[in-house]
Amino acid sequence: MSEKFDVIVIGGGPGGYVAAIRAAQLGLKTACVDATLGKDGKAAPGGTCLNVGCIPSKALLDSSKHYHHVEHEFAEHGIAVKGASIDVPAMIKRKDGVVKKLTGGVTQLLKANKVAFFHGKGTLGADRAVSVAPVDGGDPVELSADNVILASGSVPIEIPNVEVDGEHIVDNVGALEFSEVPKRFGVIGAGVIGLELGSVWNRLGAQVTLLEALPDFLPLVDADVAKQALREFKKQKLDIRLGAKVLGASVNRKKKQVTVTVDIDGEEGEMTFDRLLVCCGRRPHTEGLLGEGCGVDLDDRGRIAVDGQSRTTAEGVWAIGDCVRGPMLAHKASEEGVAVAELIAGKPAEIHFDTVPWVVYTDPEIAWVGRTERQLDEDGIEYRTGSFPLAANGRALASGQGTGLVKIIADAESDAILGVHIFGANASELIAECVVAMEF
Ligand code: FAD
Ligand code: NAD
Repeated sequence: MSEKFDVIVIGGGPGGYVAAIRAAQLGLKTACVDATLGKDGKAAPGGTCLNVGCIPSKALLDSSKHYHHVEHEFAEHGIAVKGASIDVPAMIKRKDGVVKKLTGGVTQLLKANKVAFFHGKGTLGADRAVSVAPVDGGDPVELSADNVILASGSVPIEIPNVEVDGEHIVDNVGALEFSEVPKRFGVIGAGVIGLELGSVWNRLGAQVTLLEALPDFLPLVDADVAKQALREFKKQKLDIRLGAKVLGASVNRKKKQVTVTVDIDGEEGEMTFDRLLVCCGRRPHTEGLLGEGCGVDLDDRGRIAVDGQSRTTAEGVWAIGDCVRGPMLAHKASEEGVAVAELIAGKPAEIHFDTVPWVVYTDPEIAWVGRTERQLDEDGIEYRTGSFPLAANGRALASGQGTGLVKIIADAESDAILGVHIFGANASELIAECVVAMEF
């Protein structure tokens, strides 16, 4: 006999737990299945974002920023601090505490909203049957529902001849756990994770080298912002090598170092690091999720195929977040979770993908919403731009944060805002106002 629900959500990340809570709030009998095991050996719902993504990376970005300010910026304000030092295990402990508080908070929220939580790996079968293999190894638990929401997230993409061992060669999980600052830190991929985690360890004293395969820096970002950001990050001593094709990496355990073979602009050479981070993008996590006869198709990029309202090819089965099309962002996953719960409850719901903001938490931050000039040119849309350098902004200068710019792109005819691109302090907060302006 299987236990019957109105809604079963597989995956307890920002897509899944938010969908489950919203469904329960709308009066639906809801279950949430998540397999994550926290560092304390207990269930830790919250997905990649809370456990090994957004939150722990932001915690370390903040700690490292404080240290950097003390070492490099206080003096200009006339503040002398002698003998500042770094205690990496204390930083990691603080980060773990933040994660535990939040994953514990999600557990409490699920409980308070009467969502039944199953700690295990869920597999979808035919007719929306879900089999849960408990993490603690007990017998499978059989469930079924009128609606199932797949929110299984994503995992890092692996690259040939570079094997992540979790110690010398790491992905985002390992790069959030170092017990000391690596002297030489190699990063494959100068994308969002590479820049954020590269910044963390750079500020704490590592010599950071980023190897980026593409010839352009941050090609999705506005070209003026990308150009200024590259100049600024190089000033911060991030050694960013573009057009760098990594051919392989080998670990010397005795010397505790990694040697990378890399082709830069047709010239092959070797680089040696103490630790190497691989962050070359992420792919949907669907292993073990889709069982016999479930009827859910994948698209040509291995993502769960969905329509504009997150419906999969199987009746009553929906999919949201990193495992489907669209940006891999926590707030996008949550927004889809709320929308699907509301659609299931018979309410209208719509997502404006054009106004999903992005933030790269470097210092200064990069944030944008809407389209770039390049995209508008490709689409043949007439536009006008206005931009202003922070070097001419009084507030920015008073805070010693005059690096960067704000650019607004508007429709040439109607003046509707089509995109806003910011490189500057607090860009993550400023962009929210631009989202509201665009929405209204
Ligand atoms: P996930 O958060 O990945 O959650 C999926 C959950 O489902 C996981 O717990 C997984 O264990 C579970 N699961 C998978 N399959 C099964 C199964 N069969 N049975 C049971 N459970 C299953 N985004 C931002 O917006 N801002 C940021 O600052 C940011 N920083 C990031 C930093 C890093 C280092 C990384 C790696 C990512 C970051 N992201 C950020 C991206 C963000 O983490 C993801 O977009 C977000 O977590 C996606 O949410 P999700 O619910 O779709 O999937
Ligand atoms: P990314 O797509 O941002 O960057 C990956 C980079 O690796 C790209 O520039 C790509 O050209 C490069 N690359 C790919 N293969 C390579 C190779 N073989 N050699 C060298 N370079 C190579 O991906 P990411 O940094 O891994 O992050 C994954 C996703 O997680 C992001 O796209 C984003 O959706 C999400 N994320 C968001 C935030 C945030 O919102 N602040 C932070 C971290 C992660």
